[in-house]
Amino acid sequence: MMTAVPFVRLRRLRQHPVLRELIRETDVHVSDLIAPIFIKGSEGEKQAISSMPGYYQIPLNRLSEEVEEILALGISSVILFGVPPHKDPYGSDAYHEQGIIQQAIRIIKNITSKLLVISDVCFCEYTDHGHCGLIKESGGTFDIDNDKTLKLLVKQSISHAQAGADVIAPSGMMDGMVKAIRCGLDAEGFEQIPILSYSIKYNSCLYGPFRIAAEGAPTFGDRSTHFMDPANSKEALREAQLDIDEGADMLMVKPAHSYLDVIYRLKEKYPSMPLGAYHTSGEFCMIKAAAEKGWVDEKKAVLEILRGIRRAGADFIITYYAKEFAKWQ
Ligand SMILES: [Zn+2]
Repeated sequence: MMTAVPFVRLRRLRQHPVLRELIRETDVHVSDLIAPIFIKGSEGEKQAISSMPGYYQIPLNRLSEEVEEILALGISSVILFGVPPHKDPYGSDAYHEQGIIQQAIRIIKNITSKLLVISDVCFCEYTDHGHCGLIKESGGTFDIDNDKTLKLLVKQSISHAQAGADVIAPSGMMDGMVKAIRCGLDAEGFEQIPILSYSIKYNSCLYGPFRIAAEGAPTFGDRSTHFMDPANSKEALREAQLDIDEGADMLMVKPAHSYLDVIYRLKEKYPSMPLGAYHTSGEFCMIKAAAEKGWVDEKKAVLEILRGIRRAGADFIITYYAKEFAKWQ
């Protein structure tokens, strides 16, 4: 006969801190995190990024220090973004042998082979108009020429692979980008280099601080014709399926914190596909701003949010908090 008092008490499992830890379902480790690095210029000092407190543009002559610090913190993966000295309509620095990223990869690889170097592949940081590919205009309207851009993405990817990149990460949401890059890499003997596709990249306002950091804001128009509408999630399944069919080795959702449902849906549907999430500059800055005002405890907020992203289904997270998180351990 049931008594009036509870027979099953879930609180029993929450009494002892060790027991709580023992049965914890999800955690975040430094090895789950990827640190973004912005690289700008060949000489000079680190430049503070006004839109991202505590974050810097790193010139090539300071890159080795940055890499040593990252390694000392136990971080094992980085993703590189370049701010080239010269921009043009074709983004030619993106695939130049002496391009900023190509030089950066070689510097890192000369220091260590332990660090996984992921190179972001897109054109918005390299074109003078700030768009993710070649522009075609007609009758006062403009669009990105998808198929001509694919050819440039292939050149950029091969160039990064030749410099020593370990993973190629196309981020521009061009149709067919994964297949084109896969074919291009394989033809040049880089069949072992995996592709991490920004499969589901939303047309989000949360990239604002990054665009200041990477100096890649569009000079006209927006990115609504290639990034996904934030209102959609069923469409994300279609994007993911296409990338898998085209040979993507890993998928990614960007942003992360506001799109946990999408991360969850993808992991449920494709449990065997490694899945990343990009905790964006806007998400980073929101915590920073609230912490500065004393409204949230920064460390607790970061841990809770990164845990939430992992709990939703992300295997790894790109985050501007990677270094700070590692220092807090
Ligand atoms: Zn882009």
